Amino acid sequence: LFVTFEGGEGAGKSTQIRRLAASLEELGNAVVLTREPGGSAGAEAVRHVILSGAAERFGVRTEAMLFAAARNDHVEEIIRPALLAGKIVLCDRFMDSSRVYQGITGNLDTAFVNALEQIAINGLRPDLTLILDLPAEEGLKRARTRSLEAGSTEAPDRFEKEEIDVHEKRRQAFLDIASQDAERCRVIDASKDADAVANAVLEAVLEKLNA
Ligand code: C5P
Repeated sequence: LFVTFEGGEGAGKSTQIRRLAASLEELGNAVVLTREPGGSAGAEAVRHVILSGAAERFGVRTEAMLFAAARNDHVEEIIRPALLAGKIVLCDRFMDSSRVYQGITGNLDTAFVNALEQIAINGLRPDLTLILDLPAEEGLKRARTRSLEAGSTEAPDRFEKEEIDVHEKRRQAFLDIASQDAERCRVIDASKDADAVANAVLEAVLEKLNA
């Protein structure tokens, strides 16, 4: 089973994905927890280039190709082998992040983004995508608190400096994806407390697992 987590900054993806991994392991499942951009050695190297701001000089099309290159490495080196071994793969961000960040708010045309998606995923689509949904303002507030507390191990994320309306646009784009692909996607209300969100997440995954 291949499960992806999507949503804006501060929605609690990384907390929730860790809690889900622990719950699934307790139930006796073999779980691989991974993330994008990154997740494999090659893709982590590309992540560093992108998030350090060094990719700004490349422009959005090249940046999108970097995301796609990283994703393909991650798919072929980590995700597909784990699925073939019968494991549950949980991935923090995947193709929908590219549709939204590079496509919608990066202003790249849909045909280009779709072509890259096909190349990157090479036929491997998520069985379930959980969209952690939160008003943009709330997400930004949480993300800022988090990066102040963390003392920041990574260079300040240039993506998090963007304005609320951009975040709201992304939120809507994720919701649009969910309504267009209701078979694959489930929207989770991430404004609730962490325990309630964790329960909703686990319920959605168990439902898919037992389908
Ligand atoms: O999941 P996380 O918020 O840590 O992702 C790191 C950053 O990379 C995000 O802030 C997001 O803005 C950016 N990103 C992106 N395009 C993707 C995936 C992530 O711009 N396809």
